Amino acid sequence: MSNIIKLLPDSVANQIAAGEVIQRPASAVKELLENAIDAGATSVELFIKEAGKTLIQVVDNGCGMATMDARMSFERHATSKIQKAEDLFAIRTMGFRGEALASIAAIAQVEMKTRRKEDELGNCLTVEGSKIISQEPCPCKPGTSIAVKNLFFNVPARRNFLKSNSVETRHIIEEFTRVALVNHDIAFNMTHNDKVVFRLPKSSMKARIVNIFGKNYEKRLLPVEQQTTGLFIKGFILKPEYSRKKRGEQYFFVNGRFIKHAYLNHAVENAFSELLPSDAFPSYFLNIEIDPAGIDINIHPTKTEVNFIDAKYIYAVLQSAVKQSVGRHSLTPTIDFDKDPAIDAMFGGPVKDIKQPGITINPDYNPFNTGTSGSRQPAYKPPAQRGDKDWETLYQPDTFSQPGSPAEPLIPQEESESQKIETSRFFQVHNRYIVTNVRSGLMLIDQQKAHERILYEKFLNKLESRQGISQQMLFPVTLQFPAADAEVIRSLKEPLTTLGFIFHTQGTGTFVFQGVPDGMKESEIEGVLEQIIESDRKKSEKLNTNINITLARSLAAKLSTKAGTTLSNKEMESVFDMLFACNMPEVAPDGSNIITIIALSDLEKLLKEKSK
Ligand code: ADP
Ligand code: MG
Repeated sequence: MSNIIKLLPDSVANQIAAGEVIQRPASAVKELLENAIDAGATSVELFIKEAGKTLIQVVDNGCGMATMDARMSFERHATSKIQKAEDLFAIRTMGFRGEALASIAAIAQVEMKTRRKEDELGNCLTVEGSKIISQEPCPCKPGTSIAVKNLFFNVPARRNFLKSNSVETRHIIEEFTRVALVNHDIAFNMTHNDKVVFRLPKSSMKARIVNIFGKNYEKRLLPVEQQTTGLFIKGFILKPEYSRKKRGEQYFFVNGRFIKHAYLNHAVENAFSELLPSDAFPSYFLNIEIDPAGIDINIHPTKTEVNFIDAKYIYAVLQSAVKQSVGRHSLTPTIDFDKDPAIDAMFGGPVKDIKQPGITINPDYNPFNTGTSGSRQPAYKPPAQRGDKDWETLYQPDTFSQPGSPAEPLIPQEESESQKIETSRFFQVHNRYIVTNVRSGLMLIDQQKAHERILYEKFLNKLESRQGISQQMLFPVTLQFPAADAEVIRSLKEPLTTLGFIFHTQGTGTFVFQGVPDGMKESEIEGVLEQIIESDRKKSEKLNTNINITLARSLAAKLSTKAGTTLSNKEMESVFDMLFACNMPEVAPDGSNIITIIALSDLEKLLKEKSK
C-alpha cells in the first residue's frame, strides 16, 4: 500500500476547525456580535429562535462588505483585520483570526445580506456546509445581516450534545451580556422566539449595567477609576454588602474584550478582603485599557484568556483602585459631608470667615504619645489619587475661625502660618467617642477603633513596602515562650523583622529582643507577640487572610489607645485627619463600624419624643 495520505477536502477541514471555534450556539452569537462591533456598528440586533438551535441572526448597521469581500469572508483565514504577523501586537479589533465565518458556514445554513453605504445594491449570499449556494445582488439596508440556521445540521453528534434550551439560552445571554456591558455606546437588542429579552439603548456604562441587571443595581454600584502610566482602569464594583454567596457578576475586560483572569480576580478579592464574609464573592465590571503590545491575546482559541507582560503591575494598580473606591464611596450615598455654616453658627457663635484647611497628615504621628519628643515628622500628603476634590471636601470637618483665640496652634508654627487661628470643632463623649458636625448632623467616631484603623494601615504599609523602622533598645529583653508559640514566632521572623522587631533565638523557646517597631514600648513586646500568636491560631481556621493583614491587625489592636483616654482638641483633630487619610476610614480592621452619623432629623425626633 502506498500513497495513503490525502489532503482533507476544505469542507471537512473547516468542520474540524469549527469544532474549536463554535462549541454551541452561544459561540456563534459571540463571533457575530464581535464582527458587528468590528464593523463599526452603532446598533446591533440579535434574534434567536429555540435557544439558537434553529436561528441565530445578527443585524448591524456597520460598514458592510463589497461583493468580493462578502464572498471572501467565508474563507478560512480570511480577515480584513490583520495582514502581517506584527499586526498581532497592535490588535484593537475583537476578531483577527479569520476563522469565525468559515467555521459557522461549515456547520450551518447561512444567509448573509450586506451592503456598504456607498453602494447602491447589496449582496445576498447563501452558504451551506462551506459551499456557496448562491450570491446575487439585492436591495438591502446599509450594514450586514447574518442569519445562521440549523446549527450543526450536518454534525448530528454535536447537535445531540447540546444542552436543554434553557441552558443554551443562558449561555447566549451570558455572551450577549459580556459584549453589551463594555460596548455601552452601542445600542443592543436581543429577541428570543419573538420576545424581547434586552433593549439596551446607547448609554453610560453604569446605565448599561443597570439596564442589564436591573434597577436595584443603581444604588449598589461604586465607580472605580484609575489612570497610571500605560494603564487605565475604569468601571464599577458592587458595594461589599451586596456581594454574592456564589460567584456573581465578575467581568473583566481588556481593551473592550471580556477576559477571565484568576490572578486579577484575586487582586479584587484581596482589595475587598476585610469587608467580605469569607464565603462571599465580590462583583465587578472593570475595563482595563492597555497598550496591545503589553498583552498576548493569542494564547487561547476562544480568547477569554489573556497573558499580561506585566501582570504584577496591573495587579497592584487594580487592587489599589478598588480599595480606594470602596473606601471613598461607601459612606457618600447616605451622608452629605458638606459644610453647613448654619450648624457652625448654631454651635460656634458668630461665624466670621469659613476657611477649609488643607489636610496635612503625618501617618507616624501618634496623638496619644504626648510624652515623646513631640516633634512631628514632615507633614504627610495623601497620595495624589486620594487627594482629589471629592475626597477632601467630603470629609472636611466643620471648621471655623476663632479670631484671637489664645489656643496653641494645631499645627507647629513652621508648618502652617495660616492655620494658627483655625480650630476644628470636636467634642469627646465619655472619653470614647469623638463627635463633630457634618452637614447632615453629627458624626460620631469611635476613638479606639479609629486609632486601630490608622495603625493598621500604617503597619500594613510598612509590611507591604518592607520599610519598617526599628528602634534599638538599650538593654536586650529576653522572653520565654511555650514550644508551640515559639514555633509561630520563628515562622514569622521575616515579617516581624520587616515591622521592626530585631531578635534571635536562644535555645528552643527563648528569644532575645534587641529592637522593636518604632513607637512601641519594651513592656509591650510580650503582649503584642501573644496577640500575634493568637491571631495566627485563628487565622489558620480562616483561610482568607494573609500574614501581613494578620500581623498588622494584631499590632494595631494591641497598640491602639483604648477607650477611656482623654483627648485634647488637637489630638482629636489628628485622629480625624489621619483616619480620613486612610484607605477605608469607615471600618475597623475587624470589619466593625468606626463612624456613624446621627441625622439632624433624628435628633429632632428624639427631642420631640422626650417632650411628649
Ligand atoms: P475575523 O473577525 O477574525 O476577521 P471572521 O471570520 O469573523 O474573521 O470575519 C471575516 C471577515 O469578514 C472580517 O475580517 C470582516 O472583514 C468581514 N466581516 C465579518 N462580519 C462582518 C460584518 N458584520 N460587517 C462587516 N464585515 C464583516
Ligand atoms: Mg470575527
